[in-house]
Amino acid sequence: MKIKLLDGSIKEFDQAMNIKSIAEAIAISLKKATIAAKVNGRYVSVDHVIEKDSTLELITSRHDDFYKVVNYTAAFVTGVAISELYKDVKLAKVLYKEDELEYGITFEVSPRIGLEELQAIQNKVNQIIKNDSILVKNVDLKEAEEIFATSEYQKYLAKEMFETYGSVSIYTLNNTSIVSKHPIALNLKAIKIIEVQQLTGEYWLNDSENIMLQKVHGMAADSIDALNNKKEILEDRRSRDHRIINKTLKIFGFDHLVGPGLPLWMPNGTIVKEEIKKYLKEKEWEYDFINVTTPVIGTVELYKKSGHWDHYGEDMFQPFNGGSGSDEQFILRPMNCPHHVAVYKQEQRSYRDLPLRIAEHALQHRYESSGSLTGLERVRAMELTDSHIFVRPDQVEEEFKSIYKMINEVLQTFNIQIDYLSLSLRDPEDKVKYYQDDKMWDEAEAALEKVLQDLNIDYKKCIGEAAFYGPKLDIQIKTAQNHEITVSTIQLDFLLPKKFDVTYIDQNQEFKTPIMIHRGLIGTYERFIATLLEQTKGVLPLWLAPNQIQIIPVGSQENNEYANEIRKLFKKDFIRTHVDLRDERLSYKIRDAQTSKIPYQLVIGDQERKDKSVTYRKYGSEEQITIKLQEFKNMILDIICNKK
Ligand code: ATP
Ligand code: ZN
Repeated sequence: MKIKLLDGSIKEFDQAMNIKSIAEAIAISLKKATIAAKVNGRYVSVDHVIEKDSTLELITSRHDDFYKVVNYTAAFVTGVAISELYKDVKLAKVLYKEDELEYGITFEVSPRIGLEELQAIQNKVNQIIKNDSILVKNVDLKEAEEIFATSEYQKYLAKEMFETYGSVSIYTLNNTSIVSKHPIALNLKAIKIIEVQQLTGEYWLNDSENIMLQKVHGMAADSIDALNNKKEILEDRRSRDHRIINKTLKIFGFDHLVGPGLPLWMPNGTIVKEEIKKYLKEKEWEYDFINVTTPVIGTVELYKKSGHWDHYGEDMFQPFNGGSGSDEQFILRPMNCPHHVAVYKQEQRSYRDLPLRIAEHALQHRYESSGSLTGLERVRAMELTDSHIFVRPDQVEEEFKSIYKMINEVLQTFNIQIDYLSLSLRDPEDKVKYYQDDKMWDEAEAALEKVLQDLNIDYKKCIGEAAFYGPKLDIQIKTAQNHEITVSTIQLDFLLPKKFDVTYIDQNQEFKTPIMIHRGLIGTYERFIATLLEQTKGVLPLWLAPNQIQIIPVGSQENNEYANEIRKLFKKDFIRTHVDLRDERLSYKIRDAQTSKIPYQLVIGDQERKDKSVTYRKYGSEEQITIKLQEFKNMILDIICNKK
């Protein structure tokens, strides 16, 4: 049989051989270094026997998948430790995502285990990795189901694996077995350190309809330095995670009875959102947009006509009836385009009316899978900074450039760090997702690409990422959790205007079809504010901070009164302040204002009261500065006004 290796070379063997022997035949040192392999793209253990011509990747520390193997193995070892420590444990899945740095294993046990038991699990893990090695066998589905007769989780995984690969890999260590389609090393020498770190919960298959399993997380590494390095990276990510930052800033909340993915904007969050909205509305005014307000529901027919019904299907909340006994059906809108088309069609437009820029900061709902919901980053109820701009063909380029400029100005105001721009094009092979009209697509894609080249901006071409109705430019950002998300977006659409018979009358009194541009200025408020919290680490600029100035009076009652006077004076100019009258020590109050990331702190004592002055300290600075109250107020107003 011929074995093709990763470097392209081919080795010939005259009999079936296992991976270990093949590695040894190539180089003796390779036998020890190989911890798993990939045969014809499928992960296998080093005991796997190859019988026919195949391509083979040996996984050593130089292979990209080395850490994958190390982590899945560590997850299994942790599962074994749990099985040995507690009675009737049902192991579920070994988990590892490369960019998450951690491994995990889910399981069910009764009673549930507590955080205080992590140390015992750690001790057991340390004992296991010193001594044991893992066995693997490949069986058919029937045998797997017999072996796992009492574990529905392993039976489920066996079926899933059998359907994809035609056999089921069962790994066994001591008396514990699991099914794994992921690679697991048989020799535990490759795993130098396993650190068991955390205990959380996870729904089986990430579906909230299923049982909540327990999940142990940990890290695996080949040296202490490597482990510490991973911990630092993770710590930094956690400190930027908007869900963690929210614990101090109290921007949003969720309630399981209201429903998963349905955010509650708390008072602080509402301030941030409304301030941003005010600013965006000013920008829209500057760029000649007009605002409309349309309902959050529409008839099923509307979405059938637009094509969303066919293309969006499962991602929408399902239709509901109007009154009881009525057969009128409505849906919660997943996007606002058809409503804006309806606004356009209220009047016959002429070529002189275009571009017509219809904007709405509009509520929409999407039934995102429960596993994908992530704080404010991915929700089910959201407010999109939406607009649909109707243009004549000769106006597309100029309008696109103008929208791009507007988006850039806005993102710069917030100092948003962009990862890259994605020119999202259709996949010509995909005949299902994309409306079939090659001429239309070619024109739209060429128009968009020309504009990007004119603008001299760098972009990545992403085939198959276009919307079903046209190509788009997406502004991509990396989140603290390393998710890649779209914030702003500009999309060309030659299709919807045709479907809805949208027209304008041109100079020759003829009916023509305008082109529609969909624009998400900062995307949804939800996702944008998640991004803003992460990129600023919660240190919002003064104009957005829910509490802009913390006023801390010290000493006499008269100073409290002076503090309240300052508050009233600032309130007149819409400056948000809070007077801290709690019965706590000054040092505590100062620290508290720091951890709450309040931009300015004022300490008000006798001297300040007598002089009509304030002593202020800016967030992140140790310096205390005393100036006249009026001067301070002017300074604050100036900073707010200039969004510095
Ligand atoms: P994604 O690929 O991220 O699901 P999409 O391509 O379906 O988004 P669009 O229909 O273009 O998104 O929506 C416009 C904008 O709405 C996106 O750029 C993003 O900012 C935002 N958005 C979309 N879905 C969600 C969601 N579930 N939660 C929060 N914001 C969202
Ligand atoms: Zn749209």
